[in-house]
Amino acid sequence: MEAEQSHRVLIVDDERSNLAMLNKILSPEYTILIAKSGEDALGRAEEDNPDIILLDIVMAGMDGFETLARLKDSPVTSKIPVIIITGLSEESDEERGFFLGAVDYITKPFKNAIVQARVRTHMQIVHQMRMIERIGLIDPLTDIPNRRSFDNRADMEWRRCTREENPISFLMMDIDNFKTYNDTYGHPQGDVLLKSVAKILASEAKRPADMAARLGGEEFGLLLANTNLEKALTIAEKIRSKVEANQVPTADGKTMTSVTISIGAVSTVPRLGDSMLDFITRADGHLYTAKNTGRNRIFS
Ligand SMILES: [Mg+2]
Repeated sequence: MEAEQSHRVLIVDDERSNLAMLNKILSPEYTILIAKSGEDALGRAEEDNPDIILLDIVMAGMDGFETLARLKDSPVTSKIPVIIITGLSEESDEERGFFLGAVDYITKPFKNAIVQARVRTHMQIVHQMRMIERIGLIDPLTDIPNRRSFDNRADMEWRRCTREENPISFLMMDIDNFKTYNDTYGHPQGDVLLKSVAKILASEAKRPADMAARLGGEEFGLLLANTNLEKALTIAEKIRSKVEANQVPTADGKTMTSVTISIGAVSTVPRLGDSMLDFITRADGHLYTAKNTGRNRIFS
């Protein structure tokens, strides 16, 4: 399995015996990197870009929770899946770990087959995600679907709503004064902001048929199948207020920034022969009106 050897697992544990044990279980399949503390782990994760991190919770110095929170905070390491290592009787640790963004957990004492299965599963997910990125359906910066992906799905949902005579709504959104934000704080910070806005949108695209996408630059869309205008406007207002309240720290960790978003909303029960392009264009027009009447608002 030569290819597998290039898949790297970073093991973080402050106990030598645990490191040795996990190394023994996983080294036949993966290249193993080791860190003996939380601080050490942050550095290694940034420099060596492992595919997966196994992270002990109870450690001297920076504990696993803080390490996890910091890994998730950094744009360089936030996407690396983290599996936490907990003691058998520490169920609340697992919950807190999931809350902080861990993907899974393993318990001590280690059972070889379980450790191998958990790591293998998440390694597979990592590779599937990369493949999806490669074939170009996910926006690599924000991790939500891109324009191409949106167009495919929108077309499908449009036809489905036409067939089933259901309403479909669409929110076209654009961050206000994004250029000024970029000019003031720099492009890397602009990227951090785009990610945080994408996260808010994704959190409002709750049902399987909902789709949040980055349509370009600072422009986003939210497609809501089986949703009437009233419901769509409720969601739009939630997004508007969440973005307004969203405080994004700059790199120095001290300055907090925020932006607003303008939204054009449309809704229809599509009939055979109606054009989806017209529908989207109408949303774009509404967005333009929202911008021209003061920004930080919804126009429908
Ligand atoms: Mg420990």
